[in-house]
Amino acid sequence: MTDKRSTFPLPLSSVTGNGNQPGSKPGIYAPAKVATPQTATRNAAHTAVIQPYSAPVRAASPSKSHSQAMARAQPAPIASPRPDLMVSDAIRRAMVARVAKQGVQDSMVLGALEAVPRHRFIDEALSAQAYIDASLPIGHSQTISQPYIVGRMIEVMRNGGKLGRVLEIGTGCGYQAAVLSCLAQDVYSIERIKPLHELAKNNLRPMRIPNLRLHYGDGMLGLPQAAPFDGIILAAAGLEVPQALLDQLAIGARLVAPVGERVQHLQLITRIGKAEWTTETLEGCHFVPLRSGTI
Ligand code: SAH
Repeated sequence: MTDKRSTFPLPLSSVTGNGNQPGSKPGIYAPAKVATPQTATRNAAHTAVIQPYSAPVRAASPSKSHSQAMARAQPAPIASPRPDLMVSDAIRRAMVARVAKQGVQDSMVLGALEAVPRHRFIDEALSAQAYIDASLPIGHSQTISQPYIVGRMIEVMRNGGKLGRVLEIGTGCGYQAAVLSCLAQDVYSIERIKPLHELAKNNLRPMRIPNLRLHYGDGMLGLPQAAPFDGIILAAAGLEVPQALLDQLAIGARLVAPVGERVQHLQLITRIGKAEWTTETLEGCHFVPLRSGTI
């Protein structure tokens, strides 16, 4: 029904509410020209039957403005003078097919991965690697997450349902926040490293995503003023999930987080009552550490 490529950029207002200057890659970091060996590892679905992927790209429950934005989006938005990026749509489709093969089955999530131009979130020096299934350096010793793990975490959090308000801890370069914005009505994302918060703003601004708000702060405290959340994703690993985040989950909502130090696993925590949560341990993974405070 909709050309998948038309999702970005979205011709609406700013992503942050902090100004509307036309954005371009700021070049404020200089990552090494290598892909890091990846994050989350083997997926939980090696036994699952993989459905052939056919890709609808529609927000699960888009806000009015977001769906209007999608309807008005231009058909060929990723205009780039760089020939390597001219083929990014096809390469991205191949990336999504690999993610599906690894076990992510939620077609809405796969559609969102296909809609977001990952190459726009990484340094040009690494753009040739933008669609390999690996995490990549984004500066400040942090990484953009591997596409598989991004899809997997959102799939687990969404659980096939509608997402209203979602919180992400660890904006990094903004990639996962952009993917989430295709699937949730409202997305809030917090980053503790100021230059990365600025980087994400610059990366996201040209995409004009009206249902995404970026915050600079310590995500371990959550965002009480916007709680409760229908889903929370942590993009950094702590030894445990901060209680503040558990308290900001709506009852019935799910939180997905990497937990551990050298050995890490994804944890799915569901709030089942006012003071009751269940925890399920999923597959192994490898994330950068969750740290308190801001820098
Ligand atoms: N979501 C990103 C991944 C970023 S890597 C993506 O789309 O690829 C994880 C990020 O979590 C880093 O930028 C790191 O600075 C951030 N982080 C770690 N601890 C945090 C905290 N307490 N609050 C907010 N961000 C935090």
